[in-house]
Amino acid sequence: MTPLGWGGIAAAVAVPVFAIGTVVMGAAGAQEGALLAAGATNGGVCVPDARLAPPGPSAGRTAGLSGGQVARAAYAAGWRGADLVIAVAVAKAESDWNPTARNENTNGSTDLGLFQVNTVHAAILATGDPMDPTDNARMAYQVWTDAGGRWGPWVTYWRGTYKEFLADAQAAVGNVASVAASTVGCSATLVTAGGLSDPGPGPQAANGYTPRGENVRALTRARWGCSSGRARPCVSTIGGYAKRMIAGTSTSSDHASGNAADIMLGRGYGTAASQALGAQIAEFWMTNAQATGVKYVIFSKRIWYAGRDPVRPFSQWRPYCHPGAGCNGGDTLMHVDHVHVSVKG
Ligand SMILES: [Zn+2]
Repeated sequence: MTPLGWGGIAAAVAVPVFAIGTVVMGAAGAQEGALLAAGATNGGVCVPDARLAPPGPSAGRTAGLSGGQVARAAYAAGWRGADLVIAVAVAKAESDWNPTARNENTNGSTDLGLFQVNTVHAAILATGDPMDPTDNARMAYQVWTDAGGRWGPWVTYWRGTYKEFLADAQAAVGNVASVAASTVGCSATLVTAGGLSDPGPGPQAANGYTPRGENVRALTRARWGCSSGRARPCVSTIGGYAKRMIAGTSTSSDHASGNAADIMLGRGYGTAASQALGAQIAEFWMTNAQATGVKYVIFSKRIWYAGRDPVRPFSQWRPYCHPGAGCNGGDTLMHVDHVHVSVKG
């Protein structure tokens, strides 16, 4: 990674906790046949597929990481598709898949760990252990997200050095991607948060929101709000109280009862990074629905309904069609520009 041109440092943000930190994996693919066939839900609790488990905190310290371990760390961090392959190749070019790699730069900064995250990103580095490959991948993903979902911060990317390792990376990612595609339960990136509680049903406050509606707004703002100091993409505003019917219908909306929040992604909502943030927020409220009284979540033409749908990755949610506007409305009615969360009244 290079510090050049990347002085913008994100303020510390709430750190997602991966639900599968305790699963221990052997060499890539070695145990695949013996493990869970797929992620599943168990009484509403997400049981991720162990084959997608990222490496533990001290993995690879003596012999380096396998491609499969790097692929799982990158997958857990959030990369998908072509970017997942690029991530694994960039990590090879940056650190030779050595999680404890450390390189001093001539300008006094230091590159740390698997993805050689530069010390200019002090706030991000402070959120974990840079020499833990799974932590390091998560930090690198944050840097990538803050850069708009682009690889510019990595010198081995823009110099093209990573291309030499694309074949190795593709092979490593192949196994992870095929497991992920067959997983019907939940993804390895689902976040759970300790300490969330359900304030229970209650009357609307002066601002129109019920206690549960307000709880969703406050927690979302604290984690992802631009106002909490998070760099873009971030949540611009969280509204949602309005005395109105569902657009184009005569059905009273959850917005009229204060039981819904509209989590706006703001300008640039259509970028890959913004859409990834929306999916992360949507998955967060799904994963924590039971703990917080969430009834359903809508985002970017997909819907998840508590009690009806299993906990599963956003990409596997049901298609959403608006009750008034159908399946091809604008970006607001189709919820492309915001995450809608309804809570139980
Ligand atoms: Zn809404």
